Amino acid sequence: MRYGGFVALDGVELEVVAGRVSAVVGPNGAGKSTLFHCLAGTVRPARGTVSLGGRDITPLSAQARTRLGIARTFQQSAVFPTLTVAENVRVGAEQGRPWDPRAVERTLRLLGLDGPVRARPATGLPTGTLRRVELARALAAAPRVLLLDEPAAGLDTAEVTALARILKALAADGMALLVVEHDLDLVAGLADIVHVMTAGRIVASGPPGSVLHTPERRSARDHHHLPA
Ligand code: ADP
Ligand code: MG
Repeated sequence: MRYGGFVALDGVELEVVAGRVSAVVGPNGAGKSTLFHCLAGTVRPARGTVSLGGRDITPLSAQARTRLGIARTFQQSAVFPTLTVAENVRVGAEQGRPWDPRAVERTLRLLGLDGPVRARPATGLPTGTLRRVELARALAAAPRVLLLDEPAAGLDTAEVTALARILKALAADGMALLVVEHDLDLVAGLADIVHVMTAGRIVASGPPGSVLHTPERRSARDHHHLPA
């Protein structure tokens, strides 16, 4: 994927699998969001293919991919500010796969948005609530593949724990999740496979224990292994 002459993604190859959480980590500017744009169809790579369940979907628009079951959230919030929480979720449902009208209610309930907050406009909601609205909007489309761009950004510890529980449940139900995330503790606790991206390339892939070696984690491990 190029932006003008700049190569943002170079030979990236990865697979996301139903029932699994895959993660992409790496420094700012590595190309993580660009990868999501390529998968979701909002940008078009110069070369390469995107396929879903064996079908080549490279020529398809973002809208067509959403209807086939690829849903995403954005790094920058992308709710409709004047619509209510419930209306935002309904928009997500209408963009997705053929849906059961109860999907909106079920999704609101799953994310704890079925109380009075459902009738509030999205604008002005606290970050944690806004993040749940974004996730609910994506989920209401009944995706097979869910792409989450920094879902824990701006969340407090309790909110991150609640998010992790929901994402694990979705994977356990058979959804394929791909998460870009800076919170490596969340990634370590959530992901089945981690891809490390730097300067537009995947430089390492594997289970979290084999590819994540942050100083905090190493020191915690070392501490644990101190002789008695
Ligand atoms: P990440 O999400 O890993 O921080 P991005 O995918 O946002 O990285 O960006 C990867 C690289 O592509 C960065 O160098 C960024 O400046 C560049 N880039 C991203 N979007 C555009 C764009 N629309 N036009 C030009 N360059 C872009
Ligand atoms: Mg990004």
